[in-house]
Amino acid sequence: MNLVLLGPPGSGKGTQARLLVERLGFIQLSTGDMFREAVKRGSAIGKEASGYLTSGKLVPDELTVGVVREKISLVEKSSSLILDGFPRNLFQAEELRKIFIELNLSLDLVLLFDVERNVLVNRLAGRRVCTKCGKSFHIESAPPRIFGICDGCGGQLDQRKDDSRDVIEKRLSIYDTENSPMVSFYSKLGVLRNIDGALSQEIVFQDIKKILLGGSS
Ligand code: AMP
Repeated sequence: MNLVLLGPPGSGKGTQARLLVERLGFIQLSTGDMFREAVKRGSAIGKEASGYLTSGKLVPDELTVGVVREKISLVEKSSSLILDGFPRNLFQAEELRKIFIELNLSLDLVLLFDVERNVLVNRLAGRRVCTKCGKSFHIESAPPRIFGICDGCGGQLDQRKDDSRDVIEKRLSIYDTENSPMVSFYSKLGVLRNIDGALSQEIVFQDIKKILLGGSS
């Protein structure tokens, strides 16, 4: 079972991907995480991607698709894969389809997370992420037990550079432009399902599980 998670920044794709990995054994492929790690390592890809991440713009398709193709080709064929943050535009969606065909993989389900704009801005602006394990917290709605420290691994919490107000606006406006052609693309393929991403993370997870098990959302 291979999944794509679509939805605006802050809609909970990363959180749900993490739960799917922990509880159902999926393998998560997050292009955002991959680029952030590359920037941290100072690799050639990281150097090329860095400015795009800071400003909230999309990393060029050629680089992004190349990285994703390589990662997917290295994953065990029998694994269940979640693509989180990829594709981000119609071109990437079409390229992903080709990659899946080349590797004889099927794309079984595309989940589209829907969340109101003001909720997204609030979630992103208050988000704090563990620098060690990547777990997300929120300064108001999901604070850590000890200020600035991850409940899970004791790592230090930090704010992503692209979670500043102006960059949030930029990222959301790119999403608005690029998302609807992808929604039509996946809708025509008959694999698209909607998720109410405004609900609590546990309820969203149960909704996804129902869809995965073939029930109604
Ligand atoms: P995310 O963690 O998914 O919010 O992604 C953080 C940043 O990584 C984005 O704002 C882009 O700069 C870059 N990025 C992540 N995924 C993609 C993608 N599929 N295409 C282009 N850039 C991406």
